This record gives sequence, C-alpha cells and structure tokens, in this order.
Amino acid sequence: MDYTGLLLCGLGAAAGGGVAYWQWQRADRSADQLRQSQHELSELRAARHRELVEEQAKQLTVFNSMVEGLLILDEDGRIQFANPTLGQLFSLSGEIRGKTLLEALRLHELQGVAERAMREGRVTGFELVLPGSSGRVLQINAASLREPDRLHAGSVMVFHDLTRLKQLENLRKEFVANVSHELRTPLSLIKGYAETLLDGAKDDPAIASRFLHTIEKHTDRLTFLIEDLLSISSLESGQVVLNMQRIDLHDECAQAISDLTARATDREVTLLNEVDPAIRVRADGDRLQQVLYNLVDNAIKYGRAGGTVRLGARQLNARTIEGWVMDDGPGIPADAIDRVFERFYRVDRARSREQGGTGLGLSIVKHIIQVHGGDVRLVSEPGKGAHFFYTLPVANPESMTSTTKSG
Ligand code: ADP
Repeated sequence: MDYTGLLLCGLGAAAGGGVAYWQWQRADRSADQLRQSQHELSELRAARHRELVEEQAKQLTVFNSMVEGLLILDEDGRIQFANPTLGQLFSLSGEIRGKTLLEALRLHELQGVAERAMREGRVTGFELVLPGSSGRVLQINAASLREPDRLHAGSVMVFHDLTRLKQLENLRKEFVANVSHELRTPLSLIKGYAETLLDGAKDDPAIASRFLHTIEKHTDRLTFLIEDLLSISSLESGQVVLNMQRIDLHDECAQAISDLTARATDREVTLLNEVDPAIRVRADGDRLQQVLYNLVDNAIKYGRAGGTVRLGARQLNARTIEGWVMDDGPGIPADAIDRVFERFYRVDRARSREQGGTGLGLSIVKHIIQVHGGDVRLVSEPGKGAHFFYTLPVANPESMTSTTKSG
C-alpha cells in the first residue's frame, strides 16, 4: 500500500470510530431519558396513590360520622361497606361485610328495596318499621351505582331514623285531638242549652235561670281551658321568662289558701299552712302561685269533703327546699301515679269535668317546677290521701332578684 492508500485507510477507520462513538453517545442519552421518564412516572404514580389514600380516608371519615346509616353493596348484592350508625340502627354486633342483605339483616323488605334500586336506578322514601319492641321507624333511600364500562356496579342505601319525628308527630296529633274534644264538649252543651232556651224555655224564669247558669259554667270551663292551653304552650316553647325573686314560701302559701277559702268552705275542707316562716325560695312569684293554686284546688276538689289539706316544706339540703300539699282524700290508684302529670289525663273523667277541670293543671305544675330546675312527685295510697311534693332552689340571704329565660 502506498502512502495515499494508508492515509485513506486511516481516515476510514477514524470516521468509523466517530460514528460508533456518536451512536454510543446517542444510546446513552436515550437510556438517561428513559430512566428519567420512568422516575417521573413512578413519582406520578406515588402521588396519585397518596391522593387516592387521602381521598379514601376523607370519604371514610365522612361515612363514619354520618348520622344516617350507610350500606354499600357490590354487584352481587354482597355488603361491601357499612358505617357505624348502620350497626347501631340494626343493633348489629358482628362483621357483616361479604354477607348478603338477607344474611346480615334478615329483612325481606330491605332485600326488595335493593333489588328495586338495581332495576329502576333509585328508590326514595321507603319507610320500614323494624320488628321487635323498639318500634323504630327508618326511611330508606337507595340508588344503583353505575360505572361507564359496566351496567351495574352495586348499590348504595342510606337509612334515616324517623322514630323521634314519628313520636312527635303522634304527640301532636293526639294533642290536637284532645284539644278539639275538650273544646267541643262545652261548646255543644252551650249550644244545646241556648237552643232549648230559644225554643221556649226562656219563658219559664226558673228554667231560664238554671240554663243560663249552666251556660255560664261551661263558658268558664272554656276560658280555663284556653288559659291553661296558653300556659302549657308558653311553658313548652322553652321561652318562658322567669322573674326570679327571693320568696317567702309561707306568705305564698297563705295567698293560695286565701284565694281558695271560699271553695274550701263549700266542701268544709280545712286548709292548714304549716310552712316554716323562715323558709325562702328562689322562684318566680306568679308562677309559684299558679303551682300552689293548682295543687290546693285539686286537694279541695278531689280530697275528702270535710277533710284537711296541709301545706308544708322542709330544707332538703343546702341548695334545695322541698314543699308539699297533702290531702286526706281517697288518693290516686298506683297505676295512675305516673300518669297524672300527663296532659289531659284524669283518673275520674266525669268528676274532673263536673268540677270544671281541664286535665292540664298538674301538667302545668310539673312544667313550672321543672323550669325552676326542680322536680315534682306524688306519693299516694288508695284511701290515704294524695301527697304532692315539689322542689325549688333555696334563696341565699344574699341572692339577688334576676330574670331568667327557660329553655
Ligand atoms: P283536672 O283539671 O282534671 O283537675 P289535673 O291535671 O289538675 O286536671 O289533675 C289530673 C287528674 O289527677 C285529675 O283529673 C284527678 O283525677 C287526679 N287528681 C289530681 N289531684 C288529685 C288529688 N289531690 N286527689 C285525687 N286525685 C287527684
């Protein structure tokens, strides 16, 4: 090989080496880029995973703090998730995940709701009364869960406890029915007597006077009823403003006795004020007067004709005074003792009506004492009289006059 040939060979070898070097460098750069991309991808994946975990933790907190029961079923109708409220609503103790609704809760109606939700997409406002003595009423809303690639991916059921609402609704209905009945009775009597008078009875002065007195008695009853209803409704609204004062309980009892002396005389009942004149309570004077009046009035009405009614009090402890009104009449049967403080409850309905009773007197007594922070109780044995006790806060010598809002 001549010199030129050698030179060409050398150049060729150098060029080949350069290409190889350039190719190696390019491959190295691609590997770097690949590694970089893989690293970024795995970081993205980790971030997404963290987000998912956080999202799930948040969801779990929401589900677990819901006041409604929550149940999530998978596409085969098996329980995937149940929150703690659901466990409480159905008094569940063991694990229910993986079970069917029927296996876990044993209620065919629920199974029916889940199937309807799968078929129709959603079920709203289904009401279910749980079997057993609890009488619990649940409202169920259910919806089928759908995912883009699958027609049905399970369902979700939400349970609201309506028990308290239903109870309040029943109380309201019962109250309205009672009030209507109480209003209708005197009204129809008044109408009946007025019609008889118009039909001619007015021409006989003796009959006319008797009927007019009866009409007056029933209008008085209506007035008492409306006054008592207003008292009850303001006491129950929790908005009663109490004018708390330091009150001499002996004087307050003396006032009630003096207001009721005429009624007591009619039945030859002796009223005794045995309250220690040193006792002072913290109370709203007008409200306390209402309590004493109702209790003494009842003792005269339902106690023994010619009997004795005693008003007394003692200091129970450093903060409480217990007062009482006791009669020596027929008393109250054991099965009625817990019920006499209920609105419109009467032991002897006819007797109460004849006496102009509204059936609300003791309920008002209980409410007034309770808004003072006290309590009422009744002790009675048939034939041994009725003994009504109430507690009130002691008024300290330094206690000031104040206004308190109840509720
Ligand atoms: P009323 O307006 O009927 O008197 P209350 O709420 O004051 O309503 O009393 C409820 C019922 O409790 C009365 O109807 C009566 O049957 C009974 N009662 C209340 N006080 C006495 C008592 N001192 N002795 C016997 N029964 C009583």
